[in-house]
Amino acid sequence: MVAEKTPPTHAPMNQFSVNGNELIIGGMPLTHLAARVGGTPFYAYDRSLLSQRVAELRKILPALVKLHYAMKANPLPALVAHMAGLVDGIDVASGGELKVALHAGADPHEISFAGPGKREAELRQAVAAGILLNVESFREIGLLAGISKELGLPARVAVRVNPDFELKSSGMKMGGGPKQFGIDAEQVPDALAAIGRQGLAFEGFHLFAGSQNLKAEAIVEAQCKSYELALRLSKDAPAPVRFLNLGGGFGIPYFPGEQRLDLAPIGANLAALIERAKTELPEAQFVIELGRYLVGEAGIYVTRILDRKVSRGQTFLVVDGGLNHHLAASGNFGQVIRKNYPVMIGNKMHAVEKEIASVVGPLCTPLDLLVDRMELARAEPGDLVVIFQSGAYGASASPQGFLGHPAVVEVLV
Ligand SMILES: *Cc1c(COP(=O)(O)O)cnc(C)c1O
Repeated sequence: MVAEKTPPTHAPMNQFSVNGNELIIGGMPLTHLAARVGGTPFYAYDRSLLSQRVAELRKILPALVKLHYAMKANPLPALVAHMAGLVDGIDVASGGELKVALHAGADPHEISFAGPGKREAELRQAVAAGILLNVESFREIGLLAGISKELGLPARVAVRVNPDFELKSSGMKMGGGPKQFGIDAEQVPDALAAIGRQGLAFEGFHLFAGSQNLKAEAIVEAQCKSYELALRLSKDAPAPVRFLNLGGGFGIPYFPGEQRLDLAPIGANLAALIERAKTELPEAQFVIELGRYLVGEAGIYVTRILDRKVSRGQTFLVVDGGLNHHLAASGNFGQVIRKNYPVMIGNKMHAVEKEIASVVGPLCTPLDLLVDRMELARAEPGDLVVIFQSGAYGASASPQGFLGHPAVVEVLV
């Protein structure tokens, strides 16, 4: 006889408490929050969970590592302002994000700007603001030389390196092989020479190998390789390395079978690298930049059931928001195979009656699938479907104009 294998389950969403049948967020029962927001659908982000996350990281990472928030994960101005008070710096990816980071009160000295296609106007904004530019091409170096002269301010630059290795088992690879990001490691000595010739203020290196990684050993290996590469490239640098941004890539569990990342080995490895750097790169400040790891688990997407239909034996819960607000949960934001996010009926957390149901959004396309046949509390129109792990790459990463439904509301609670 073959033992029946139990299917993998989602990691427990125990960052949130439950009172009776209600999920609690920001200290409030979900139905109460929905009334306060004024309707559904909405995203809610819990401030205390954001603060707690940063505090936990600080406990494990060496005190000398600077922690940056990569705000493309969630650019809601109120949330960025909250994060700016917790982390050491903000990483932006556009002139628009730079404006939000400055409004949020982030120290310009600790803001950095990466992105493969920076417009001349964005480069000028960045130089005038006094932030660090992660240069990604020879074109940018040339433009920055002109802007520095025009403003009488030498641009602060770090070289974003496209490394000659990849971050293994990553959800999204952003370095290694041919890439649009950064300058290939082989060309970096020439870029460093150009930066020196043009009189730009060289401050360091930025290496970002990949994203959404749940394997500590893979992250440790990438950080060691990044350090070695930066050390090697520093021999050709026109000035000492002051910032060494080793990227991030820390993932969170989204799908069945995924476990939370073990930070302890990463903290220990960073401590060892910092020890080495004391003699090898004595002026270097280590930076790690995290997006989803800081904010993803603190957010939920809440949508209300409009209709309940049974079609040829399969139950569909039709809700008032879908891929137009939460593209990632529909499986259309970079996933190769569609899998379900952790989802629960937020006002029936302890319901005894369960059923297998699919949750679909209101859009007239079969892509608008939020849950594909999952065990949920038996739900009716009016009940609230909660999608967890939704604090990152949600509203701003979704096609809100698609099909002309109302825009989603976001609240920080
Ligand atoms: C997107 C991005 C990040 C954040 O990635 P997460 O997976 O959200 O942590 C960090 N650094 C750079 C350069 C990025 O492009």
